[in-house]
Amino acid sequence: MTECVFCKIVSGEIPSEGVYKDELVTAFRDINPAAPTHILIVPNKHIAAVSELSEEDEQLMGHLFTVAQKLAVKEGISQSGYRLIINNGPDANQVVFHLHLHLLGGQKMRYPMG
Ligand code: 5GP
Ligand code: ZN
Repeated sequence: MTECVFCKIVSGEIPSEGVYKDELVTAFRDINPAAPTHILIVPNKHIAAVSELSEEDEQLMGHLFTVAQKLAVKEGISQSGYRLIINNGPDANQVVFHLHLHLLGGQKMRYPMG
């Protein structure tokens, strides 16, 4: 998976503004933020998309969300609110094929975006 940009961010090969890391996930600021807070939370292991998940990933996916919840508190957006997005495939405009959870907040958002 050497061609995957998020694998390279997880390994440190490509620099990023990291905000959290543990044995399962890595979180860093989006290079092109769509809101005042825009953090990407990714599994450390390469999973291309939600459509590639297997049952053994259930704990990992739950962990992505509890990390997002804690980062929202740390960012000061827990009370004001935030949006969690996972894009899957072409119609959702998934650009990077390493599963990632977007944590967006710090402004009032319309629905749907884009
Ligand atoms: P997607 O549309 O695949 O859900 O979103 C991919 C996101 O990754 C985009 O918001 C884009 O700005 C972000 N991104 C792409 N390449 C990089 C990178 O090299 N570093 C960081 N920090 N974010 C990236
Ligand atoms: Zn990857």
